[in-house]
Amino acid sequence: MPKKHVVVIGSGFAGLSVATHLANTKSFSVTLLEKNDSPGGRARKFEHQGFVFDMGPSWYWMPDVFEDYFAQFGKKPSDYYELLRLDPSYAVIYGDKDVLDIPADLGEFKQMLDNIESGAGAQLDKFLAQAKYKYQVGIHDLVKKPSRSLMEFASPSLLVDMIRMDIFQSMSKHVRKYFSHDKIIRLMEFPVLFLGETAENIPALYSLMNYADIALGTWYPKKGMHEIIKGMVSLAEEKGVHIQYSAEVEKINVENGLAKSLVLKSGEIIKADIIIAGADYHHVDRHLLDPEYSNYSEKYWDERVMAPSSLLFYLGINKRLKNLRHHNLFFDEPLGPHADAIYTNPRWPEKPLFYASVPSITDPTVAPEGMENLFLLIPLAPDLEDSEEMREKYFGIIMDRLEKISGQEIRSHIVYKRSYAHSDFKADYHAFKGNAYGLANTLFQTAILKPGLKNKKVKNLYYTGQLTVPGPGVPPSLISGGVVAREVMKENKL
Ligand SMILES: Cc1cc2nc3c(=O)[nH]c(=O)nc-3n(C[C@H](O)[C@H](O)[C@H](O)COP(=O)(O)OP(=O)(O)OC[C@H]3O[C@@H](n4cnc5c(N)ncnc54)[C@H](O)[C@@H]3O)c2cc1C
Repeated sequence: MPKKHVVVIGSGFAGLSVATHLANTKSFSVTLLEKNDSPGGRARKFEHQGFVFDMGPSWYWMPDVFEDYFAQFGKKPSDYYELLRLDPSYAVIYGDKDVLDIPADLGEFKQMLDNIESGAGAQLDKFLAQAKYKYQVGIHDLVKKPSRSLMEFASPSLLVDMIRMDIFQSMSKHVRKYFSHDKIIRLMEFPVLFLGETAENIPALYSLMNYADIALGTWYPKKGMHEIIKGMVSLAEEKGVHIQYSAEVEKINVENGLAKSLVLKSGEIIKADIIIAGADYHHVDRHLLDPEYSNYSEKYWDERVMAPSSLLFYLGINKRLKNLRHHNLFFDEPLGPHADAIYTNPRWPEKPLFYASVPSITDPTVAPEGMENLFLLIPLAPDLEDSEEMREKYFGIIMDRLEKISGQEIRSHIVYKRSYAHSDFKADYHAFKGNAYGLANTLFQTAILKPGLKNKKVKNLYYTGQLTVPGPGVPPSLISGGVVAREVMKENKL
């Protein structure tokens, strides 16, 4: 019997994961088509005169998810990259001379909380005990569900678990049950920003992110986050996945309810028995399929709560920087008005919060000797106009604060500068509204309420990645590939 031909669109974490899982069964031949000339999607890298920039993700959380991924193929992350645990995990900048280094050690972390609010260390134990339970049920069970039917969640023990996990309470209320000092509340609410919404709109289930942050730690793969992608590509190829770069899909041809072939921009036609779309869901659903085969209408997509987009700066600095850590969260302005500018009244924020990463502090290989690799990120509402003037205006705003708070001149030491925003996300990844992180994990966009992983009208077309289950972020995207692969195997009786 000839093997069925699976074609995966997109070489992000999700596309690479699903392709590798299916190739590993030896029952499929797998081709992966990538629009860009290098792998990784939002986690690509680029180099300029000795500076090596990770283009997207920079936080390595949930190391067990990466271990699980590689273990499914008899491998370990250390077969592909060397992990370092960061200490301090990161720094939170509340204002001028008001900086908190977040220690990796749990005892020191509790002491730090006690110094801010008496008794908060003991409260953390209770908070984390519940968060650990959520992490175990959430990451080792819930996120692995394909979420195609409510029945998947209809086991009595799971229902009890879901009640225990405060699934219907907001993260914001949950945190305030344990802590009252504003600094601690902001610290505890920060991790859910990774899920694309504020703590008011994220279910308390996601205090599991605090467990990931505080108990499991912040890690860094030496030479950068792209090393994970390099490892995944090497594993995919070892399993027989054929990867074609600069291979943009322009159309999926459907006949009698089955996807039959893909048409590339080059004109090449590739036949397929099964197609799995790891490219942005909206792009595949609304632009690669004829309208009668779309899973969702344009109105549906318009009504989704998208996670933010971002304005990014990749900077090469010709001196070493002081008073900064590997990860620096600038919370020196209140979150409320910035969140309003992202979610409620989309606009450029008046006083943006931002994030600065200096990986060369940990890793000398990502900048020339004596220099620094600086990455800046401002989260923004999707679908904004990102003119050069706007980018420069915001560069000025955050540079003023960065220079003042860290007490040094930076602008005059910039030897390389590149900005990246909405229009780049659209051009490079076909990102809906120029989103950076996909779809927000709000209560009404969780599990079966997310865009489904299978097309309802085209029997052999599936979706994976940060716009479907389980959600945005590197670990969920990795898991998403595995979830879809298992559905494909099940439906092909493997
Ligand atoms: C700036 C930024 C910072 C982030 N920080 C973090 C972080 O610190 N930690 C974390 O865990 N997560 C982070 N994330 C989120 C994380 O990077 C994403 O959730 C994850 O990488 C998404 O993977 P994916 O496979 O779903 O999609 P993608 O990486 O977008 O992959 C989709 C691929 O499909 C390709 N494609 C699109 N259209 C076509 C087509 N027509 N034909 C062929 N190929 C096509 C694209 O080129 C792309 O390679 C960050 C994201 C961004 C943008």
